[in-house]
Amino acid sequence: SVVVVGSVNLDAVTVCERFPHPGETVAGLSVAFGQGGKGANQARSAARSGAPTAFIGAVGDDDAAETVLNSLAGAEVDVSRVARVSGSTGFANVTVDGAGENHIVVVPGANAEVAVGEASRRAIAEADVLLLQLEIPLDAVLDAARAAREAGTVVLLNPSPVRALPDELVGLLDAVVVNRDEEKALADVVARVPHVITTLGGDGARATGPGGTVEAPGFAVDVVDTTGAGDAFAGALAAHWDLPPAERLRRANAAGALTATAAGAAAAPTAAEVDAFLAAQ
Ligand code: ADP
Repeated sequence: SVVVVGSVNLDAVTVCERFPHPGETVAGLSVAFGQGGKGANQARSAARSGAPTAFIGAVGDDDAAETVLNSLAGAEVDVSRVARVSGSTGFANVTVDGAGENHIVVVPGANAEVAVGEASRRAIAEADVLLLQLEIPLDAVLDAARAAREAGTVVLLNPSPVRALPDELVGLLDAVVVNRDEEKALADVVARVPHVITTLGGDGARATGPGGTVEAPGFAVDVVDTTGAGDAFAGALAAHWDLPPAERLRRANAAGALTATAAGAAAAPTAAEVDAFLAAQ
């Protein structure tokens, strides 16, 4: 089973022909609301990949809280340990223009209040894999990683958004999942973690570990929107951590590629969809 300790947002995506100038109002073409946040996206992907998955984070006391929790529960993610805090749920306001450029305002809201309490520590201890990102306070990331290490739960970190990491945290990691930019920015960290999984966009992924390096080529797909592909990859990787490295990478690549064929960030495929996709290759 997988536990994700991380962020959850309500995403609002509006599309307009051109962005308004300051003080101007333009008519939009469409609006869509969805659940976002790297933590929640990765939890959704792990659950849809077939692993029993719990998401630990925080939501506010607004209507957005229900929307994102219902969305996660609908993907079979256990949200029973998500904290309710006063204030707003995390929110991302995305505006896309006719050229596909975007403007994004992210309000961390409740994500800035995530803390790891006793119940969360127990859940982490009982899980096989803990999956972390960096959209919540570093103290919560550290507390979660400490609880995992103490219990022998594997600790995976997707260090995004990238930032400097304390030595203690680096010492608690079993694996990092990085894209090419993160790998470069965190070269000193990557050199000290036992397993390094690097996503290579359309070129697939590479895993370096004690057993050597495994490369998995990317899948050729009709790309619509790569938003969320990295989150789908990380969630699937965590869900399949018990598989041999090559198979684990292949399934995570398929999850990433399939996510790139659909619009939006929350479209990670199910295990059955990945099975069908792989059978057709
Ligand atoms: P991020 O979006 O975090 O920068 P990547 O761009 O490396 O990460 O994408 C993550 C994973 O999603 C890749 O390892 C791959 O499996 C899949 N993926 C991303 N872009 C494509 C693409 N154009 N074609 C096929 N698969 C893709």
